[in-house]
This record gives sequence, C-alpha cells and structure tokens, in this order.
Amino acid sequence: MIVVMKKGAPKQEIELLSGWLEHFNVTVNPIIGAETTILGLVGDTSAIDKDTLMLNHWVDRVMKVQEPFKRANRAMHPDDTIVNIGGVEVGGNKIAVMAGPCSVESEAQICEIAEEVQRQGATILRGGAWKPRSSPYSFQGLKAEGLDLLYEAKKNTGMPIVTEITNPAHIELFLDKVDCFQIGARNMQNFELLKEIGKTDKPVLLKRGFANTLEEFLMSAEYIMAEGNEQVILCERGIRTYETYTRNTLDISAVPALKRLSHLPVVVDPSHAAGIYWMVEPLAMSAVAAGADGLIIEVHNDPAHALSDGAQSLTYTHFARTMGKIRSIAAAIGKEI
Ligand code: PEP
Ligand code: MN
Repeated sequence: MIVVMKKGAPKQEIELLSGWLEHFNVTVNPIIGAETTILGLVGDTSAIDKDTLMLNHWVDRVMKVQEPFKRANRAMHPDDTIVNIGGVEVGGNKIAVMAGPCSVESEAQICEIAEEVQRQGATILRGGAWKPRSSPYSFQGLKAEGLDLLYEAKKNTGMPIVTEITNPAHIELFLDKVDCFQIGARNMQNFELLKEIGKTDKPVLLKRGFANTLEEFLMSAEYIMAEGNEQVILCERGIRTYETYTRNTLDISAVPALKRLSHLPVVVDPSHAAGIYWMVEPLAMSAVAAGADGLIIEVHNDPAHALSDGAQSLTYTHFARTMGKIRSIAAAIGKEI
C-alpha cells in the first residue's frame, strides 16, 4: 500500500500517521521529496482500510498495490494447488468431472446415477441433501437421509462425494460421510459458516455468489483458509446480469482471471449457469478450453420428473456425448479427462 501525503504535510502529522499505521504491524518506509512525502507500507496491509485512511486531512491518495487476499493469492504460492478429494486430484493435468443429480431423491435414483456417470468417466459424485431453494414450498432435500443415500452410492462405486452444507450445526454429520463440502452460491458470504468449515480439514468446493465480484469470492476463500483449511476449490457457476435468456450468465473470464490471481483450482458449473440442458455442453466445452480444472454437471435418470433443476439436467445419453466433446477439447490443450 502506498500513501501519498498532501503537499506541505507537516512532519509532525506524517509521524503521527506513521505511528498509527505501525499499530497494524506494517513497516512504514517514508520517501521524502521536496514538496511531497510518500509512505510505502510493507507487510500485511489487509487490516488497513483505505477509506478510513482518506479521512486524514493530510492524506492525498491511497493506492493498494497488493490484493487483500493473502493465502489465496498466487503471489504467496506461485505453483498451482492440487486438492485431493477422497483420492481424486483437482487442479493437476487431469480435468476432474463431478456429476450427479441436483437433489438426492431415493436410494435407487442416486445409486443408478452414480454408476452411470462413473461409467462415462466422472470421478466425483455430486448430489444435494440440503437444498437451499428460492421458495419454501419447493422440495428442500432429503437432508440427513440424503447423506446416508449418498454414502450408499459411494460404497457401491467408490466415488468420493461432494454435497452442499448450509448450516454449521451439520458439520459433524458431514465429516463422517462426505469427502468435500460444497458451499453454495447463496452462502458464499455466510461468514460464520465459512469460518467453521475453515476449522475442518476436508476439501471445500466454494461456489461464487451470483452477485459477487472475484475479489469478494477470493475473500470468502480467504475466510476458510485463514482458519487453517487451505483445501479450497473455486467454482464459477454463473452470475446475475441484465440478460434473462439464461438462468445466469457464465462468467468465462473468471476462469483465467482466478487462475492468474490465485493458486487454487477452478471448477465450472455449466448447469446452474445455463439453466437449460442443451446449453450445458457448449458451456462445459468453453470452460475446459478456458483452462478450468474441473466441471460439476447435473445429470438425472429422468429429468422430466426431477424434484429440482430438471430443466438443466443432462440425460445419460447427453452426458455421454458431452464427455466425448470435453475429452477432445482437453486433448487439444494437452490435458486429459
Ligand atoms: C447446486 O449445486 O445444486 C446449487 C444449488 O448450486 P448454486 O449454489 O450454485 O446455486
Ligand atoms: Mn441444482
């Protein structure tokens, strides 16, 4: 952070300000010019609020030269982080495909879908047990029973499972059965949930809120990491824009941007971005082409009768075709699926 003082700022004022800044455990390096003094702050400046600094009458400008996220920052960790979800690596040369229904509906449904998506090359099973729905009258998920059914599917197929947690009170239950916590778009800034998840040592798939900037997204990852859990996977799932044709707008530029800003793996959810099944395949292809480390795709045995998100769910046939297409894209950029 660089603080440019106003012309003629009295020495005593500069010293007072420097002393105050040092309370934040940063080193203040003054550069004293003929008319203007500049203070170069070295160290962790994340606790220093730019707007508060501007309240000082003698401060002319404040420039942040470092992002407020530290642990998630590529500068702090130049190599890509690889997160291991129950034996499956996310973040390496192999693109991880997570697939399954929006909601777990029954044992037969989740077990059949698990086998089918695994046959097509998915390596991680997704499925919601607690469903945060826009309407309180919509299906809310099978909750604890849903977790048990996911666990059955895991025992049958050996696939690790990722499922959404909405309440810190459920952590114990999840720790026993689940391989990766999913934090949904609606909870991306549920800071108490993030902090509690940060105290565990299980991987976390953190989804971007539909109205959040990339910096806010990375600050949410930082909340988890600051508590000690560094196994965070970022998931772009579409943001809300003025366009209503699609459910959300897939921010494909988030992929290269996040890869540049952070060392964490980046996964794309084309299903919630599109909102409609036929657009999932091209969005999945574009995500792989843009450098995503993985995909999370909704697949259903009978989309027309799904209890949630049927319209955007792929049938088995369509999923198989999509896998073929993304395999070709991956090969073209020197990756595999
Ligand atoms: C989901 O994955 O089913 C889901 C609810 O996703 P999001 O939080 O991105 O809306
Ligand atoms: Mn869904």
